Amino acid sequence: MSGLSDLPSLARVIDAHGLAAKKSLGQNFLLDMNLTEKIARQAGDLTGCDVLEVGPGPGGLTRGLLLQGARRVLAVEKDPRCLPALAEIAAVSDGRLEVMQGDALEIDAAARLSAPIRIVANLPYNVGTELLVRWLTPAVWPPFWDSLTLMFQREVAERIVAQPGGKAYGRLAILSQWRATPRIVMSLPPEAFSPPPKVHSAVVHFTRLETPRFPADAKVLQRVVAAAFNQRRKMLRSALKGVSPDIEAHLTRAGIAPTERAEQVSLEAFCALARSLAEDA
Ligand code: SAM
Repeated sequence: MSGLSDLPSLARVIDAHGLAAKKSLGQNFLLDMNLTEKIARQAGDLTGCDVLEVGPGPGGLTRGLLLQGARRVLAVEKDPRCLPALAEIAAVSDGRLEVMQGDALEIDAAARLSAPIRIVANLPYNVGTELLVRWLTPAVWPPFWDSLTLMFQREVAERIVAQPGGKAYGRLAILSQWRATPRIVMSLPPEAFSPPPKVHSAVVHFTRLETPRFPADAKVLQRVVAAAFNQRRKMLRSALKGVSPDIEAHLTRAGIAPTERAEQVSLEAFCALARSLAEDA
């Protein structure tokens, strides 16, 4: 691993390859290797694991993952300007790093990896939640990954771990806590990144559950939760009117008062509602 430790500093790499950050690609780079290794450590023991990294950029976290002993890292990067910097890391990775240029929303990365698989990423903010929802909502469970260790804006991280009763509670909390156990494991100030974003960030570690916490169909649950929180201040009987003509009966069957608002309803009750709706479909 000595080759990895001997690579030039990330600031020099960015300079040498002219990697001026592009806002359109959500580019806020981590330059401190102590920090990127610390993030990689939050993913647990990587020896014997394949890792999918989305958006390696100049490769700070990629280096951290390799230094932590990952068996293999598949790094998917949209910006072709980053490829030469990533090739320098690949050259000293003992064949453990594969870089793919493309859009993570379009690439079937699972097909290129072997279990056990961990996903670790300092996600581009513009596609972060979309990727998370995709990873959490495949029709068949368990999914291809064992854990996710992901950087989000702090406010998004708080929505992921939120409990009923507050403004942060919504679709992300329900989908995340239904099939996984998410925990905020690190907080980072804007100055940790170059350029610094406007907001604070946080790393969330998700351990998947072997079976979802409560039974429900992923599509039905997603539809119900999206409708319920789209009009979160309305009573559920009117927010969910479009979901079923018999919504009051379904709500009652699920043990939810039709006059309740989405914010007050537990994950368990949303799953019961999804089951009741699926029975009638
Ligand atoms: N991992 C690097 C780090 O920690 O310094 C860079 C993180 S930066 C927040 C996000 C990275 O994701 C950028 O390198 C950007 O080019 C890349 N990116 C943006 N959209 C992407 C997409 N749809 N698919 C793959 N990579 C993407």
